[in-house]
Amino acid sequence: MMDMIRDIKTLKQTIAAWKKAQKSIGLVPTLGFLHEGHQSLIERARQENDFVVVSIFVNPLQFGPNEDFERYPRDEERDRKAAAAAGADMIFMPSQAEMYPGPLHTSVRLGGITERLCGASRPGHFDGVATVVTKLIHLVEPDRAYFGMKDAQQAAVIMTMVHDLNMNVEIVPCPTVRDTDGLALSSRNVYLSEEERRQALSLRRSLSMLEEWIEQGIIHADELETRIRRKIESEPLAAMDYVEILSFPSLEPIVSVSDWTGPDNQWIAAVAVKFGNTRLIDNRIMDRVEAERRRSHV
Ligand code: AMP
Repeated sequence: MMDMIRDIKTLKQTIAAWKKAQKSIGLVPTLGFLHEGHQSLIERARQENDFVVVSIFVNPLQFGPNEDFERYPRDEERDRKAAAAAGADMIFMPSQAEMYPGPLHTSVRLGGITERLCGASRPGHFDGVATVVTKLIHLVEPDRAYFGMKDAQQAAVIMTMVHDLNMNVEIVPCPTVRDTDGLALSSRNVYLSEEERRQALSLRRSLSMLEEWIEQGIIHADELETRIRRKIESEPLAAMDYVEILSFPSLEPIVSVSDWTGPDNQWIAAVAVKFGNTRLIDNRIMDRVEAERRRSHV
């Protein structure tokens, strides 16, 4: 039987009992309206822990003033079934008043890594994410917490925070789950009209050209960005927010995808595109060596 817990007191009692029995705990933080992407995180947590907690909380701190906080899709009954089917032991679904009973005097803010990509278009977003995830980690005391690479910058932010602040939790990044047509699953996909959705396939399609372009010898980040941009902008309803190629996970600018200095061994091509009022993101992460190998095959 899966528990549905809405208050912090009951949550803490349950966690204390699990801890006392020396059970391991996996946490999957979500905004709800669960789909197979969320379920893949829950299933992974199920395999690796004695107990799995899914948090569902539409966190106002991470939404900008003109974003979709009010209309973010919510469906508790459906979420309950989806979480149970994937093997969750508990849904923690606090109200806003439970999570933020009064003014918040403290927030977690990361520099550098939060200033690019979605951080640049959504000021304050990652401070809101880092703050709520810190609260959830303190409340649930998980051994492991699971994050999807669809939100690669978010995963990088959380890993950096956990490292910087010596938080006692392992962050487990999980691969992006896609629909059969290639569109990355997202709770926001329900906003798309049929035509917008068709055109949104250009995100994945452009990113999957990368190998081919690199094999043709195109390794300059600028040029690859331009090619991705052109492909997406050939769809009339697409309004580009950004296309950027950066090293991963530090998110530093790079000139070439096969050669740069710094500690990162991977790079990310990340895109954010609006279709009407719906903002979609997608990305590809590749190895530096992989890029060099492909190029030298030419
Ligand atoms: P959200 O409810 O959108 O905040 O997502 C909660 C968690 O699920 C985050 O760690 C997301 O990265 C992850 N997630 C969302 N969509 C996907 C997907 N298509 N594949 C894998 N993970 C996902």
